[in-house]
Amino acid sequence: MTTETIDTAGAVPLTRLSEEEQMFQQSVREFAVEKIRPLVHKMDHDATMDKDLIKSFFELGIMGIEVPERFGGAGSTFFTAVLIVEELSHVDASCGVLVDVQNTLVNNALLRWGSDDLKTKYLPMLAADTVGAYALSEAGSGSDAFALAMRAEDKGDYWSLTGQKLWITNAAEAGVFIIFANVNPEAGYKGITAFVVERDFPGFQVGKKEDKTGIRASSTCELMLEDCRVPRENVLGEIGKGYKIAIETLNEGRIGIGAQMVGVARGALEHAIAYAKERKQFGRAIGDFQAVQFQIAQAATDLEAARLLVYNAARLKDAGMPFLREAAMAKLFSSQVCERVTSVSVEIFGGNGYTREYPIEKFWRDSKIGQIYEGTSNMQLQTIAKTILTDRL
Ligand SMILES: Cc1cc2nc3c(=O)[nH]c(=O)nc-3n(C[C@H](O)[C@H](O)[C@H](O)COP(=O)(O)OP(=O)(O)OC[C@H]3O[C@@H](n4cnc5c(N)ncnc54)[C@H](O)[C@@H]3O)c2cc1C
Repeated sequence: MTTETIDTAGAVPLTRLSEEEQMFQQSVREFAVEKIRPLVHKMDHDATMDKDLIKSFFELGIMGIEVPERFGGAGSTFFTAVLIVEELSHVDASCGVLVDVQNTLVNNALLRWGSDDLKTKYLPMLAADTVGAYALSEAGSGSDAFALAMRAEDKGDYWSLTGQKLWITNAAEAGVFIIFANVNPEAGYKGITAFVVERDFPGFQVGKKEDKTGIRASSTCELMLEDCRVPRENVLGEIGKGYKIAIETLNEGRIGIGAQMVGVARGALEHAIAYAKERKQFGRAIGDFQAVQFQIAQAATDLEAARLLVYNAARLKDAGMPFLREAAMAKLFSSQVCERVTSVSVEIFGGNGYTREYPIEKFWRDSKIGQIYEGTSNMQLQTIAKTILTDRL
């Protein structure tokens, strides 16, 4: 045991928020409860995101959280984005992921790899009124993302993209897409290149929308590109370096998915606690029974642990410190916790929990996606194992 003393004067608890963070948290929390909650049931039933809500996200300034003010954004931090995704998701996970993809994947990729011209053209749009989407997955390449088959051919004054993408979040609403295609399949993953594609570029089409189990109001669509003409200047980063952009954006993005899962678990638990206080059996509120109290106590403890993992990963990222393992752990654990907490919350509602008349079953359905997208749980375990067994990457 070491006797070395360290100066902890500057250390602050992970959950202590700055004034700006509190301001965003409070305003988005109020917005979610007052404006989103009344629409949740219908949006889930209709599998459609309310258009006016999307407008409000822009007005609230939460579609360009890290985008510098000179491009019309809020000029805030990644941690703020994480707080906002949690607040939205505690009421509706579909709103959470719409804002999450915009900030942690699309804006993030442009901020880090965009040329000055690309940033000047697209960041103001993304902060003001244009939804973005991020298209890596295809029918034949999910976990094995770099096996993607979409081709990009150099046609002299433009790039021609041909192929299909699958599972693209926000595709129904998006005006701008970051699309990964291979310029040289013989070079394998070293041919993968990222392009910024606008919805109305010739040869671009949004296809079928998936009918999903959960996050039903979040659109998930196929993209079809047939000789889609992309201007040369719309290559994002370097040719052949798309794999690096994908890896690095997704490393960050999965902290956002962790925040979504923390939000969903928290939303479910809040409903369950309120119900446990109201519902009477054997002449008492069910929350008076120690067994129910313990279910709630365990869920609250799991939730707190998940939140600490997510907040820590986000704070590490903002501090410019390594966060790969922590991000993978945060996503893995928070998605497991979310499934457990939403499931026990359904049980606390009894038979009512199993009907669509009550809000709780939706949280359960929404929880499952956290173990699938932005790298399945097995992929997170693979990353964690690699960093442990081969030293930190
Ligand atoms: C609602 C939704 C939204 C999405 N949004 C987007 C988006 O916006 N953009 C985008 O590009 N993609 C998106 N995706 C795609 C998502 O990232 C993939 O579905 C995910 O990466 C898994 O790929 P897959 O579905 O092909 O499953 P597969 O890769 O076929 O995996 C199937 C199972 O096999 C396991 N498995 C595979 N390989 C291994 C291995 N080597 N070791 C151990 N286990 C393994 C997996 O863990 C999983 O359990 C979305 C998906 C969904 C469902």
